[in-house]
This record gives sequence, structure tokens and C-alpha cells, in this order.
Amino acid sequence: MKEIVVISGKGGTGKTSVCAALAYVKPDEMVLADCDVDASDMHLIFQPKVHKDEPFFSGVKAVIDPALCTNCGKCASICRFDAIRQDEAAHFVDLLDCEGCGYCALICPVNAITMPKQKVGRVFGSDTRTGTPMAHARLDIGADNSGKLVAKVKSDSKALATKHSRDYILVDGSPGIGCPVIASLAGADLALVVTEPSISGFEDLKRVCELASKFDLKMACVINKADLNPKIASEIRNTMKHRNIPILMELPYSNDFSEAISLGKTLVEYNAPQWQAQFERLWEKIIKEL
Ligand code: SF4
Ligand code: SF4
Repeated sequence: MKEIVVISGKGGTGKTSVCAALAYVKPDEMVLADCDVDASDMHLIFQPKVHKDEPFFSGVKAVIDPALCTNCGKCASICRFDAIRQDEAAHFVDLLDCEGCGYCALICPVNAITMPKQKVGRVFGSDTRTGTPMAHARLDIGADNSGKLVAKVKSDSKALATKHSRDYILVDGSPGIGCPVIASLAGADLALVVTEPSISGFEDLKRVCELASKFDLKMACVINKADLNPKIASEIRNTMKHRNIPILMELPYSNDFSEAISLGKTLVEYNAPQWQAQFERLWEKIIKEL
């Protein structure tokens, strides 16, 4: 079983469109994992039939029982994050500020503070409309621990791949270089970086390549909107050559990307003569790289 993670550094490069098009042309070969849990959108394109829907708990936060609290103020005085406030009857915790360190629970003289696990989202197991099994998730608004949620989606996708005898897991990773991207890359076999020749696209490409180089995986690149800025496109090619990262595909700017997404379709469905063969070839090249 091999795992391919599609990442981008910068948002808006066409990462999800590329990932969805690959999933569409090879529906029987893979399991899809939507690890962009802060803003998941594969379900909008693939309209999955959900067969598993579970809450996801991660991390702890302090909760004060007002019936036990004597309002002594000790907890508020030691909280480094100023997460504990006082009203007339008792102290209470602002959950958005609490970091879950547990110090307040240790020092409360009347044991009024508990540290319950927090629900931070939901995890789903589904069958997409094309027949590809999909693991995906939704992070609650303002919730932390997106990295742990990504790890859960990845482990669920492996279980689906085993159950359905699929050889490949295609992961739609998050943009950026933060915790969810690190969790997406962990244990993967190949990182496919989708970039664009803009200043921010190029700088974020370098950052995400530096990050991925810390992992024991192969890398490959797709340049989208390659005709947008020939000078930066050339700099991207030189940088990829210097890093020994093959460029598997270059695509011109196309309105098909935004138009297909707005209709809830993959690029290949929207304009098969233009895209079908290109994405079939891209998949073959990815498999060769593996
Ligand atoms: S330390 Fe305990 S009793 Fe004192 S204010 Fe905090 S919660 Fe209330
Ligand atoms: S768990 Fe830590 S951060 Fe949260 S309220 Fe208690 S002392 Fe503050």
C-alpha cells in the first residue's frame, strides 16, 4: 500500500482540483483521504454516501464546578494563560484561552476543577459517487488539534484501503507548512507539490519542499498556471532541478479549474477532451516515481 500526499504550500494553486482529477480517473485503484480538515471540500465534489460518522475527541480543558468552587482565586493566580475569570459566585474557565496544562486542577484546594477531553470535530467514512472509498473529517469551529484529526483520517484511510484491497491512498493535504501538513506527510511515500509561478507560490513552494525534505519520502512537482509568469516559472524549474525533484506536469492557466469546482465537478468531468488524458498520464508518472 503506497501513500501519495498532494500539498501546495500556498493555498489556491489548484491542489484540490489536481487531487480530485486524479481520484476521478482512477476510482478503482485508490482510497481518498481528505486531510485538509480545516477546510475540507472533497465531499462537495464527490458527494459521498456517509456510512461512518463519529465524534472526535482530543486534548483536555479545565472545567470548574461552581457548586464546589469557594472563589478563593488560587487557580486564577497561577494560570499563565489568563484563562480563568471570576464572577460573583465562582471562578470559571474561558475555554478559548485554556491550554489544558492541568496546573489549576492540581492546586485547587477543594478539587473543583476537572480536565475532560474535548470534542474537536467529526470523522467520516464514506463511499464517493465514483465508488472510491473516502476518509474525511470536519474540525469544529475554533477547535485545536487539527494535526491529530489528520492522523486519524490517515489511519482510517489505511483501514479502508485494507478492507477494499486498494493499493494506493491519495491524500489531499492542507496548504501551508503547519501541524496538519506535517501530520499529512508523516508515513507517506510521495509528496506531490502543486505550485504556481507567483511570488508567494514560489516562496511557499520552497518552504514546503524544505519541510518535506525532513521526511523519508520522494517528491514530485506539478506547475499549474505555468504561463502566468514565465520568469518565476523558470526559477521554479531551476529550483526543482537543483533539489532533484521531477516536474511531472505543467498546466496553462485555465478557467476550467474555478468553473469545474463551482459546479461541484472534477476537471475531467467538466472538460474531458482537455483533461482526461493529461491526468491519466500524470497518474502513470506518479506510480513510476513510487
Ligand atoms: S482554586 Fe478551586 S476553589 Fe479556588 S477559585 Fe479556583 S476553582 Fe475555585
Ligand atoms: S488547565 Fe492550565 S491553561 Fe487551562 S485554565 Fe488551568 S492553568 Fe490555565
